[in-house]
Amino acid sequence: MTVIETRAPATVRTVGADVTAAIAAAEQMLVALGVDTQVEHLRRTAERMVLSYGEVLTPAPFEATGFVNDADHQGFVIVRDVAFAAICAHHLLPFVGSATVGYLPGARLLGLSKLARLVEYATRGLQVQENVTQQIADGLQQVVPDQCGIGVIVEAEHLCITLRGAKARGTSTVTSTWRGALEHDATLRSEFFSLAGRRFRA
Ligand SMILES: [Zn+2]
Repeated sequence: MTVIETRAPATVRTVGADVTAAIAAAEQMLVALGVDTQVEHLRRTAERMVLSYGEVLTPAPFEATGFVNDADHQGFVIVRDVAFAAICAHHLLPFVGSATVGYLPGARLLGLSKLARLVEYATRGLQVQENVTQQIADGLQQVVPDQCGIGVIVEAEHLCITLRGAKARGTSTVTSTWRGALEHDATLRSEFFSLAGRRFRA
């Protein structure tokens, strides 16, 4: 069993963070933006902001429970459409989407819920989608080192694109990464896409 606790993205932790200083700075920012923080709805907004970031930016380590592959399952193991919400490192605005994560097992299998936990782990912290995609694959490589191949597809709507700047509502960003046998085998990638329920061509 492996406890994932490495490669954590930049985080704001409530434990060990200077919460008082963060609240004072958040209050200053709101005031500098011309916000009246004395009205009832805004009186504790700086505090709520800091505690919210502390909560959503702190990944919880977890135990990656594994099992022996006693039936010698050689096909894909894929968990599709694991929903997530993350905070983008560039704008501190959310990006919301889902990840499909799978692997070709060797002698060991990973508990299925742990694939979803890998997604949860990688999407905490100030993140960019490309890094989320790589970190899910890295995490999977770390906890099932004897796997024969890995595929990860992440699709998300970024509020920094839809709310501001280009204001391109309804756009989604898709990223993928392959490890092991999938890196060089288009047929395997095509099977992965098909099992993932995606219409893309490999
Ligand atoms: Zn952004």
